[in-house]
Order: sequence, then C-alpha cells, then structure tokens
Amino acid sequence: MATILAIYAHPDDEVFGTGGIYSKCSAAGHKVHLICATRGESGKITDPSIPQDSNVGEVREQELKDACAIMGMEEPIFLDYHDSGRQERTQTHNPKALMNVDEFDIETELLKHIAEIKPHVIITFDPHGAYGHIDHIRIHRAATAAFWSCGASVQPAPTRLYYNTFPVARMKMIQDMRPSSPLANLDANLYAVSEDSMAVRVDVSDIIEQKMRAIKAHKTQVGPTSSFADTDNPAWQKMFTTETLSLGGLRGSFPYEMPLDDPMIGL
Ligand SMILES: [Zn+2]
Repeated sequence: MATILAIYAHPDDEVFGTGGIYSKCSAAGHKVHLICATRGESGKITDPSIPQDSNVGEVREQELKDACAIMGMEEPIFLDYHDSGRQERTQTHNPKALMNVDEFDIETELLKHIAEIKPHVIITFDPHGAYGHIDHIRIHRAATAAFWSCGASVQPAPTRLYYNTFPVARMKMIQDMRPSSPLANLDANLYAVSEDSMAVRVDVSDIIEQKMRAIKAHKTQVGPTSSFADTDNPAWQKMFTTETLSLGGLRGSFPYEMPLDDPMIGL
C-alpha cells in the first residue's frame, strides 16, 4: 500500500475535483494525508444556521476535519498561513496572507512534512490554480518546487506529482451549469486541458454519496446563499462523478498507457 499527500490552499479545495479519488484510495488501503496552507479565513458563511459572527477560520478547520474523516483521510495538517481572499476581500496588506509569503518559505514548510510523511504521490493544483485564485497558484508552485527539491533531501522521494485538471469539455459543462461559479467567465481553452493531457480519469459514481457528504461537510461554503446551493440537483452529479489528473512530475518510469483509472497503479 502507498501514501498520497494532497497539498491545497483552503478547506474545500480537496473535495470538488478529487474527493472521490481520495475516498477510493483510502478504501483501497492507501494512506491519504492532506496539507492545507490556510483555514480559509476570508471565505463567506453561506449557511444562515451558522452564526454570522463565528470565527470563520475555526469553523472551516472543523469542517475540513469532518470532510477528511468522511473520505477516510488522515487528520489534515494546517500550515497556519492566512487565506488571501478574492475580490473585495483580498488581503493585500496582511503579511500572513499566502499571497504575501515568500514562496521559498512555503516550500520549506512543505519539505518538513514531506520528510515526515514520505509520500509516494503528491497531488496539488494545476498551474492555473483551477480558476486563477492567487493562493491556488502559490501552493501549486510551492508544491511543485518541493516535489523536485525533496529529491535531494528526502529518500525515498515521491515518484509521481499529479495536478488536478479539467478537460475542456468538462469545464464548459461546469460553466453552463453554474453561471455564478468562479470558472464561469474564464477561457476554457486556457484554464482547462486537452483530453490527451489526462494521466488519470476516475469514475467515482459508485461512491458519489460519500463524496457528496464530504462536500456538504463544508457547510459554510455550500449553504443556501452560495453558488453550490443546488448540489442535490441530479444534473449536477455529472460535474462530480468524473475526476481527472494530469502528470506534473515523475521519478523513475511510468510504463502505462494514459489515462489510468487508478492513480496508484504500479506503486
Ligand atoms: Zn481554494
């Protein structure tokens, strides 16, 4: 059995595009760890049943712990940086916001955990950070740098780096279904990738109920006033039942025809 380390910026980044993969891998006996760089402090509370004056970071920390437990993952590790936010909530002047932290510092923090966890596989955001969120792009860069630099200091070093990417057709489907999504007005030919760029394509329809429970654990983010308010719409299930990864880095060989239906084949 092998070990996966997922590296993301905010609570909920792990679940929409890869929650089924983590659920399936942990059910198969692999260990699945998660590093979350921030507690999503700049997120809105979109569920009126949660007091609006709650400490958002504390609430989202617990939501991520609950989601990880549902997916069979290890308890998440937080790096204690702050969410840089978006639009009117952008934390331009917060020195702890991920956007203002030196990328080498983030890489050094990641290396400490990689040395301890010794993952075989690292999974993180693609170069566009899904939809261009500054924190997603920074954690992508730091995780990619750490994948390569740990070869000199961590043995055995991880052998595969995967990026969570959308094929163009699926991004266009999401844009049609969720006009208020942050993906909605982006150029799919730039932010998504071609079908032949897919290293892994996993059908997670057999565990979709488990994945939906993990999504709903992020109550602050999928409440009635969020763009995810309609998660139970059966048409939406199509958005969540296929998960895709492209290959960001490799040590050794990858002697398989892509796309794989299991990211852990051969480990
Ligand atoms: Zn995020």
